[in-house]
Amino acid sequence: MIRRLLARLIPGRAARKPRVYGPEQHSVRRERLSHAARTVIRRLQDEGFHAYIVGGAVRDLLLGIDPKDFDLATNATPEQVKPLFRRAFIIGRRFRLVHVHVGAEVIEVSTFRAAQVGGDTTDEHGRLLSDNVYGTHAQDALRRDFTINALYFDPSDESIWDFTGGVADIRARRLRLIGPSVTRYREDPVRMLRAVRLAAKLGLAIERKTAEPITRLASLMQNVPPARLFDEMQKLLLSGHSVETLRSLRAHGLSHGLLPLLDMILEQPLGQKFIDVALAHTDARVREGKGVSPAFLFATLLWHEVLASWTQAKARGEKPLPALFEAMDSVLSRQAERIAIPRRFEATIKEIWSLQPRFEQRAGARPFRLLEHPRFRAAYDFLALRGESGEVAGPLVEWWTRFQTETAEGRAAMLKPEEAPKKKRRPRGRGRKRAAALADAAKDSASTDEPTSD
Ligand code: ATP
Ligand code: MG
Repeated sequence: MIRRLLARLIPGRAARKPRVYGPEQHSVRRERLSHAARTVIRRLQDEGFHAYIVGGAVRDLLLGIDPKDFDLATNATPEQVKPLFRRAFIIGRRFRLVHVHVGAEVIEVSTFRAAQVGGDTTDEHGRLLSDNVYGTHAQDALRRDFTINALYFDPSDESIWDFTGGVADIRARRLRLIGPSVTRYREDPVRMLRAVRLAAKLGLAIERKTAEPITRLASLMQNVPPARLFDEMQKLLLSGHSVETLRSLRAHGLSHGLLPLLDMILEQPLGQKFIDVALAHTDARVREGKGVSPAFLFATLLWHEVLASWTQAKARGEKPLPALFEAMDSVLSRQAERIAIPRRFEATIKEIWSLQPRFEQRAGARPFRLLEHPRFRAAYDFLALRGESGEVAGPLVEWWTRFQTETAEGRAAMLKPEEAPKKKRRPRGRGRKRAAALADAAKDSASTDEPTSD
């Protein structure tokens, strides 16, 4: 009795017995694992450890989807795992994992852990601040988020170990949190985002008790560190199902405050169209197995915010190009407060944006110089999206599409007549420094103004 009560209060403590499904009871075959995953498991098992494929890969295989990577769970500690492999690295400060490299593949090996409950392990909203205690196999299952993510596959006998009813949920195409939903969301609000993302991506229904608290608890997302939010947002946007996922996020009241600027953008008619077009393109590319650049995607999500700031600055009488740079900086820094777009993306995002005015210039040597710019392709794709959403005129995009494939004579014939030359003023004193900073983008843009139509 007391044990059962304790088990209810402290979910990780429950000594649950797993249901073990034999190979005749499910469709996952060991041949579906990568060579690297099988090698690492076999080595651990040969040393007498328990080792399983866990999480997304087992779930995806049961659903008939090709897993994107294979994660392992074992009762061996990182210190016991590392010496068994030639190229193995212990990573992570807070919780230590081992990355085992086999050929080009990296297998993430984590030691069974237990959820920590009580004491000073949560903040005032109930968010878990640490989860770095080793545990049993059953505890490892119960600390995971959804039942379908808590399945373990042992390739040696092709058995699936299920502590939480995940196999039944997969068969019913149902997404269900492990444990009491409000507590689990408070421990880690990102689970709300994951619920919506996984349901949309896998075509699952979110079970009632799992779905019900989301809208009410949505504001807890404010409490999540920006870098984690960025990782989940990136997964969401690059899942190949971003359009449905964002729709569903909005339906659950989760889009507000996530990408705060997105909220504003969605209220602008042109911005909405632009983002829909951009996300639909991204989804199509992901589903075709083509590469997608996160920097490009973030550039699209924030573009209309930049446009709005830029237009305002110009209306205040600022020169177009400095105004554009100012708008880019202010949008990126505001966004960084919530979602830490890593610096390595910022440079590319800015380049894509700052090349946009240069597409307006179709006289003289300028179009040729733009064509040679290392970011031309991304900037042109971006222009095409602007065209598709109705922000710039179709003929401008068509001109650039043709210009790329024309012969030298064809290109020469396409050039627009030069405008009357403007008097160039040399900047003096302090203005010179600013001008130098803008030099690269500015060199072809003396006459840049508002995007115009053909
Ligand atoms: P994807 O296919 O999108 O990678 P995934 O389920 O594999 O989905 P990961 O972020 O790779 O997602 O996480 C691996 C596993 O770790 C999950 O399957 C789940 O068992 C566990 N996990 C991930 N995030 C959480 C979380 N916030 N709370 C509890 N468990 C989690
Ligand atoms: Mg995964």
